[in-house]
Amino acid sequence: MKKKGRLYDTARWKRVRRRQLARELFCRSCAEEGRDELATQVDHIVPLERGGAPFDPENLQSLCATHHSMKTNLFDKNGRDWSEHALVGCFEDGSPRDPDHPWYSGTPEGEHPGGEMNQTEREAQPPGAPSAADLISRADR
Ligand SMILES: [Zn+2]
Repeated sequence: MKKKGRLYDTARWKRVRRRQLARELFCRSCAEEGRDELATQVDHIVPLERGGAPFDPENLQSLCATHHSMKTNLFDKNGRDWSEHALVGCFEDGSPRDPDHPWYSGTPEGEHPGGEMNQTEREAQPPGAPSAADLISRADR
């Protein structure tokens, strides 16, 4: 196992990285979403931790900072495959790309039965209504 971080200090990596960014100017993921965002990061599609080739152009993609950290945090660290990234985010109408997203379960957000409603009912009780303690003491008589 190679020491982490070491690769990025090498002259070879800096050269490969520069070449990748020159070859692919725009973030690949933004392009898939129909936007032109200049790439600032070079990502290993198959992360080095999982045996990805460090200098193989086939294993490199240009990404913007947002997509790069998204990929690293959501996929590389969780062992998920980057090909699933198409499921992250939303369509143009705001619906999630992920068919398993709770959005599709039909439960409207912000609806919490109980709580506040019970409070209102208690306050709406007419004054002078017998409390539970009254009823118990009456039953004792
Ligand atoms: Zn991007």
